[in-house]
Amino acid sequence: MDTLHIIGAGLAGSEAAWQAAQAGVPVVLHEMRPRVGTFAHRSGDFAEMVCSNSFRSDDDERNAVGLLHWEMRAAGGLIMTTADRHALPAGGALAVDREAFSAAVTAALRAHPLISVSEEEITELPTDGHWIIATGPLTSGALAESIRAVTGADSLAFFDAIAPIVHAETIDMSVAWRQSRYDKGETEEERTAYINCPMTKDQYEAFIDALLAAEKTEFHEGETAGYFDGCLPIEVMAERGRETLRHGPMKPVGLTNAHDPATKAYAVVQLRRDNALGTLYNIVGFQTKMKYGAQTAVFRMIPGLEQASFARLGGIHRNTFLNSPTLLDDQMRLRARANLRFAGQVTGVEGYVESAAMGLLAGRMAAAEIKGASLPAPGPETAMGSLVHHITGGAVAKTFQPMNVNFGLFPPLDDARGGRRGRKDRYKGYTDRAKEVFTAWLADQA
Ligand SMILES: Cc1cc2nc3c(=O)[nH]c(=O)nc-3n(C[C@H](O)[C@H](O)[C@H](O)COP(=O)(O)OP(=O)(O)OC[C@H]3O[C@@H](n4cnc5c(N)ncnc54)[C@H](O)[C@@H]3O)c2cc1C
Repeated sequence: MDTLHIIGAGLAGSEAAWQAAQAGVPVVLHEMRPRVGTFAHRSGDFAEMVCSNSFRSDDDERNAVGLLHWEMRAAGGLIMTTADRHALPAGGALAVDREAFSAAVTAALRAHPLISVSEEEITELPTDGHWIIATGPLTSGALAESIRAVTGADSLAFFDAIAPIVHAETIDMSVAWRQSRYDKGETEEERTAYINCPMTKDQYEAFIDALLAAEKTEFHEGETAGYFDGCLPIEVMAERGRETLRHGPMKPVGLTNAHDPATKAYAVVQLRRDNALGTLYNIVGFQTKMKYGAQTAVFRMIPGLEQASFARLGGIHRNTFLNSPTLLDDQMRLRARANLRFAGQVTGVEGYVESAAMGLLAGRMAAAEIKGASLPAPGPETAMGSLVHHITGGAVAKTFQPMNVNFGLFPPLDDARGGRRGRKDRYKGYTDRAKEVFTAWLADQA
């Protein structure tokens, strides 16, 4: 049987390798780390989560990313089942201990009898054999150049920013308190998964002034400036309006100050647990491109963080992705070279879960092809199908931008499914329909 080669053992490449190997196809996984690093990855482990430690909502009845979790679990996805084993309390979200998670994914892949690992950077697009390219938003420069030469189209590059991580012991708990927004969660641990730092109006105004005045890292390399939707740097949000943060990551709703229940905070900074030990917390939504010195000074203005020590400060990064609607066919293959499939963030999906989901699909499709069959994508009524249909044709190519999974990508519901009902019922209608379609898709492969 032919071998499947996969470039990149990130969220997508790891899942693709697992799926193909589980289907009985031999896999060589080519990963450049630890020999060649990226600015965001810290280890040589596979499936490293470079920023937030959250896979976002785990609600598979009313949330599109929660539905994607469900589909990946149903398909025996390595990423999701490993995440479940290393989950941390996060009040309705699926957050994980990132180091334990990556170590477990790495161990599972290295132990698989059909998978071998080649520690090397691939610098050119291969001309023959079966390949999946899952090199992510930080695809190495040489390979990006080679992709550009072959596709003949400009791949877009834009900046994104990562949030800082604080040592928990340096947070002043006589000021901050533990509580998940609206006390969400089934256990006491989940209901107290976040640490909250309250601000008065004066403190908030001073904080905004400092953010606006802080020294920022400038754009360079002539790249287009831009960010993931929903991942804007805080100083960019502050530039959009002094109230923007108070209605975004610093909104004070659903929280009661345990030290002073009668006083409503004007704004609240939330920190979310970042490891199983509970020794590290990331500041939620605080991606930034402020210079390091400025970050320390500005973040220590937050009540409770005056003495904070930072395990990692925020930073900026480049995001490389294809114009998939013009370049890829419905099998995620490059139209110009059908032996090459793409998967993950480089295809223009956005997020850990979406990237892993595209890896799952590409791995199954490639395995089917090697075995002489063809596997169609699941229907657009499913979360996975809605994403792949979007990137390989549904999206407008001219204005194509990376996309998170969301119900807006799903075909409308008919009335019998609750198409005319309120939002919550409609979401349930979407997820019920998706589960039926996805289950049938899996059954067809059995
Ligand atoms: C700094 C940063 C912060 C992000 N924050 C979030 C977040 O908070 N939440 C979220 O959901 N998503 C986030 N993303 C977006 C995205 O979901 C992740 O990048 C995700 O890891 C993408 O998965 P992937 O498998 O496509 O790429 P990756 O996980 O990056 O995997 C790609 C792999 O390919 C390897 N590689 C690259 N080039 C080569 C080559 N030429 N040869 C061999 N190997 C190569 C890399 O070393 C890497 O291991 C962030 C991205 C970045 C860069």
